[in-house]
Amino acid sequence: MYQWQEYRQPKSLAEAIEDLSNAPVPAVPIAGGTDLLLDMRQGRHSNVHTLIDLTNIPEMNTIEIQGESLFIGACVSINRIINDPLVQRNAQALIEACDLIAGPQVRNIATLGGNVAHALPAADGTIALLALSATANVAFPGGVRTMQFQELFLGPGKTSIDKQTELIVGFSIPLAKPGQASAFKRIMRPQGVALPILNCAVWVEREGNRINASRIAVGPGGPRPFRATKAENSISGQYFNDDNISKATEVLLEQGSFRTSPRRATSEYRKSILPGLFQGTFKKAWSRAVVE
Ligand SMILES: Cc1cc2nc3c(=O)[nH]c(=O)nc-3n(C[C@H](O)[C@H](O)[C@H](O)COP(=O)(O)OP(=O)(O)OC[C@H]3O[C@@H](n4cnc5c(N)ncnc54)[C@H](O)[C@@H]3O)c2cc1C
Repeated sequence: MYQWQEYRQPKSLAEAIEDLSNAPVPAVPIAGGTDLLLDMRQGRHSNVHTLIDLTNIPEMNTIEIQGESLFIGACVSINRIINDPLVQRNAQALIEACDLIAGPQVRNIATLGGNVAHALPAADGTIALLALSATANVAFPGGVRTMQFQELFLGPGKTSIDKQTELIVGFSIPLAKPGQASAFKRIMRPQGVALPILNCAVWVEREGNRINASRIAVGPGGPRPFRATKAENSISGQYFNDDNISKATEVLLEQGSFRTSPRRATSEYRKSILPGLFQGTFKKAWSRAVVE
């Protein structure tokens, strides 16, 4: 038996926004359904009357260069991202994150927008987008606005977008320039089961042996997807060597909040594996950022 009464399939963004505001309530957007349908079936989601399927909206299915950015539509599947040459060239961390999400069947239908909108602090695509300094395009009844990625998140499972009227259209990532690269790693139970014990994404800009700039994201490192700004500040402008990486690791451990979660890991375990995970990810991004 279905757990909803009506299923709408808008063909345009305008139609989807209209449906969201005017369809019989509660009206909820659905993309791949890999999070939402499980939540509904397992009683973790409130009652739904209308599902609004976003997967036929052209803007949400696009991957393209827009000016100085790479735009990825919210309904692009995880599998399509992994195989896209534009993403491969500009956002290695996102490729590596998507390649570790779930198993092949889930990756075929799960979307990047759903991964972000579910707002879990260790969602792999989300952590990669955070380190890549993404912005989000959010549609509302009057148009589309751009938001800093971090502003999307209020807490576990909670976004700042108005669920009754707004939709995430997609994400823009600055194009990679020479000397810039990124990487993603995670520590997990067997792949395909669930979220990681800990994940990490790093973006770095390199000039010779100097770290010009860096961005570091770790999940779960707090109630919202966590950007390690203090570790970034401690290492940016420094030379790449073991001492400076160790100092940044200490700052990272201090700033993050690595909690115990009942099914995945204790706080102590997370803190003990973080140095190896962070340093391995940083070194991987660094080695890629060579100017040919
Ligand atoms: C077996 C299994 C293993 C998994 N493993 C991992 C893993 O290793 N790593 C990981 O990160 N995730 C994992 N997941 C979670 C899941 O697959 C991802 O979060 C997925 O990317 C969600 O996308 P979706 O299109 O299925 O979202 P949906 O389930 O369709 O939607 C999720 C939520 O987002 C909302 N939503 C969707 N699109 C939009 C939009 N454009 N605008 C506004 N709101 C929107 C929906 O209303 C819903 O609240 C796993 C899931 C399963 C079932």
